[in-house]
Amino acid sequence: MRLTSPTTSNLWSMPLAMLLSVVGMVSGCTSEAPEPRPFSIIFISVDTLRSDRLGAYGYAKAKTPSIDQFAKEGALFENMYCDVPWTTASMTSVMTGLYSTEHGLQAPWLKLPDAQLTVAEIFRERGYRTGAVIGIFSLDAAYGLDQGFDYYDDDFSLPAIVHPDQPADKHIDLEVTEDLQAYARLAEAKVYNDAYKKDSDVTDSALAWLGDNKNESFFLWAHYFGPHERLMFGKDLADNRIRIIADYDRELTDADTEIGRLLDGIDSLGLRENTLVILSADHGQTLGERGAIGHGRDLLEPEVRIPLIVRYPSRVEAGLRVPQVVRSVDLLPTFLDYAQIDDRDLADRFPGRSVRALIEGEETAERLAYMDLHVVMPTLMDDDEGEHFFGAVHYQALRKGKWKLVTGDLRAPCTKGGGEVEWTMLGLDPKGREGAVSLPDEECPQHGFTSLFDVSQNGPRLAGEGKDVRSSHPEIAESLSKTLEELAANKGQADRFELTPDQERRLKSLGYLQDE
Ligand SMILES: [Zn+2]
Repeated sequence: MRLTSPTTSNLWSMPLAMLLSVVGMVSGCTSEAPEPRPFSIIFISVDTLRSDRLGAYGYAKAKTPSIDQFAKEGALFENMYCDVPWTTASMTSVMTGLYSTEHGLQAPWLKLPDAQLTVAEIFRERGYRTGAVIGIFSLDAAYGLDQGFDYYDDDFSLPAIVHPDQPADKHIDLEVTEDLQAYARLAEAKVYNDAYKKDSDVTDSALAWLGDNKNESFFLWAHYFGPHERLMFGKDLADNRIRIIADYDRELTDADTEIGRLLDGIDSLGLRENTLVILSADHGQTLGERGAIGHGRDLLEPEVRIPLIVRYPSRVEAGLRVPQVVRSVDLLPTFLDYAQIDDRDLADRFPGRSVRALIEGEETAERLAYMDLHVVMPTLMDDDEGEHFFGAVHYQALRKGKWKLVTGDLRAPCTKGGGEVEWTMLGLDPKGREGAVSLPDEECPQHGFTSLFDVSQNGPRLAGEGKDVRSSHPEIAESLSKTLEELAANKGQADRFELTPDQERRLKSLGYLQDE
């Protein structure tokens, strides 16, 4: 490993109302059947949730009874991947059904253009009520993800970084702008003041909205802050690291309790039977593997392997486990499929495919999980020759069957060599590398790595990819590299991310804030 960054049948397609009326005609029944509830969708996303910390995914120490029970009532996908491991980009992939390289939201200072089509717009156009309850400011309406939602609750009240000398008391209006200085100022103030809402507030708000809209067809998205890290200034950095890892399971248990309350509420409102409920995450979290902590820093399993559980009592077999690889971009086509929105022009827009055929055992073709991440914060990387570098990195990865190929290309600015890396509150400090020398910008892209892993060796735990087997399987690495290149070329728009020299200069001077 070169990467050392710490960092059915036709009857089934008949709408239920029609089905009941057919049954009524056949039996000559004239008694008034209760009006069937209109089909609806609830999408629950939990921030920073790696799949292997859930009991349903085999974690013996898990205290996640609500999600585990939910998994028993639906289908669990064992190999679900996000395409990019940071909140705004990943959830934009879900909401647009496009890879980040297609929707273009590959940096935190970018906003989803109005011209992009979102799942909420598709459902609203078809008469659905659309609501979203958002637990973290990285999905603030300012990023454009409110498109198509009648209701978008992005009120936050809690700081994600607690500073003893800086009590959180302000509401910050976020504006996403390519004026990086202005954006960074606002984003930083947001993090210190109103960055997220409590998971209990997400459940309360979602249940209130469901109460108001339960008689209509609706699409509801509830995003929980969940086990996302909170940082405390004034504490030793090592304390923060230890605490973040130690708190993860407990904070996940708290989120599980609130998700349980939402699921109970769905039952109480009588919405269980004809509502597709899907639970997933935006990305995972590295919890000490390879000395790293956090997300948005690499494409290794702890950051990109997330849960996917699909419950729809009349259509999805309870307790099913699906081993095939699936992806965040498969969610939008899945929503449309179960809603019976069968519009060819629409379907052709999306690279993903509904997971229904996997649930119903009708698909054998292998899906490829494509991942792409630009890390603008300097990060530690070893190239194929084992030389140490520190700089911005463009990572790409491909999961195909049991194999996973990961590549990294160094971007300017970068340094070469040096000794130990120094940890700071938000990550690594490039200045802490003694003996490192700055390389001319044009030399940076000449360095990079390609690694190959057999992720089936991982077991249920995502301790990391294990051993780099590229040298013992060069033909597989080469074949996957070629596929990755082709995919990247088709997805095509990664170049849009290239920074202008002016942006690059400003980023350097800002020591830019990573992700949320
Ligand atoms: Zn997130």
